[in-house]
Amino acid sequence: YADAAMYHAKRQGRNNFQFYSADLTARAAERMRIESALRHALGRNELELHFQPQFDMVSKTIVGAEALLRWNRQDHGIALPCKFMPIAEETGLIVGIGEWVLAAACEAAVAWNDRRERPLSVAVNLSPRQFILNDLAGTVRRILEETGCRPEWLELEITENLLFEDSSEVRTILEDLDRMGLSIAIDDFGTGYSALSYLHRFPVKRIKIDRSFVHGVPTDRRRLELVKAMISIAQALRLEVLAEGVETPQQAVYLQAHGCRLAQGYLFGVPQPLRGFEALIGGDGRAVS
Ligand code: C2E
Ligand code: MG
Ligand code: MG
Ligand code: MG
Repeated sequence: YADAAMYHAKRQGRNNFQFYSADLTARAAERMRIESALRHALGRNELELHFQPQFDMVSKTIVGAEALLRWNRQDHGIALPCKFMPIAEETGLIVGIGEWVLAAACEAAVAWNDRRERPLSVAVNLSPRQFILNDLAGTVRRILEETGCRPEWLELEITENLLFEDSSEVRTILEDLDRMGLSIAIDDFGTGYSALSYLHRFPVKRIKIDRSFVHGVPTDRRRLELVKAMISIAQALRLEVLAEGVETPQQAVYLQAHGCRLAQGYLFGVPQPLRGFEALIGGDGRAVS
């Protein structure tokens, strides 16, 4: 019986391995298809930005938008960044894509701020590799010039992990960008591995509380305390604080009552194409609701 059992286990093991490797092969093939399609995405005009309003809960106005990348992939419908950004980063395609995003976001800001009394800012996500692979500050300067976008309309979102190593290269780039007059926000605040000390060592203007914490408001005691602590840190350091992923009026009321005046989330608007966003902001940035 022991022999039979052993034989059985071995066979099963081999089968499992075959399943596993078949699965790996399928995934590798899918990755390669995405990669080669992504190489042509720019040339085929398949990339598009959607804009999600950023809302000031005190003045009840839209004060800006975050640009979020979408890929209208041939025969596949709209792909979200989680599907292709990791591949763009690993292959270095992020550099070209990232420049396209910056330029398109700046163009959008120029379009919507034309004749607007109170300008709305545009926030652009940067991946860490854009800092390593390319002269980021030079690229941003050139794009601002080419599009006519004013630096104070542009906000760049980075994540804490970029600051983890405290590299002098990253610091120099961020200081250059800061001197140019644009602002830096820390995205997904509270989810990275960095010590908080970077907040006074780098030119940070805003923190964005990650939606995993906001999700717990107002019922999850521990996440509630974390949100309050993050708002306190921001206030103590004179940083702006924005809550991500606000979905319910209760969350908005709670956040505002505890000193967070900026918010973003489905409650205030989903990411949408430029036309839709422009309709939303109407003439003067007041939400048409
Ligand atoms: P993120 O920068 O934290 O962006 C916020 C994400 O949360 C977006 O997902 C947005 O659609 C989603 N979201 C907004 N409000 C709500 C809400 O109320 N509830 C929930 N559940 N979700 C909400 P999206 O567009 O799929 O983007 C995912 C991530 O991809 C972004 O996270 C950002 O890290 C990255 N990403 C997007 N566009 C770019 C880009 O142009 N360049 C780079 N490097 N990364 C990008
Ligand atoms: Mg972001
Ligand atoms: Mg975020
Ligand atoms: Mg996020």
